[in-house]
Amino acid sequence: MVRRLFETKWEGMRVTPEEVAGAAQLPRGASLALLAALDQDEAVDLRLTVYHSCRSRPVGSVRFMQGFPTYPWTCPGCEETLCGPTHTVVENLRYGIIGWVKCRIYV
Ligand SMILES: [Zn+2]
Repeated sequence: MVRRLFETKWEGMRVTPEEVAGAAQLPRGASLALLAALDQDEAVDLRLTVYHSCRSRPVGSVRFMQGFPTYPWTCPGCEETLCGPTHTVVENLRYGIIGWVKCRIYV
């Protein structure tokens, strides 16, 4: 079922782990693991999208396997430099996960 979904529905499109989980009836963790494995095979470009409080849309993205951005981090949207969370400061960063399906996947 996963093969058919990627070949016909999502080739060349953006997907989220939640969409894969719903369509393939997988737990979210399993769908994320599947997308991560496909990223390793270069069939999917799995990205961690970064949201800052200055915008409702992502201000950037990094490869999922690269991990979270490190501090100090300068927002490309507003150029504010964040030094990292402390006990008294909560940084206004949020993250999302998307995968770009780059090619047909044969499993
Ligand atoms: Zn910003």
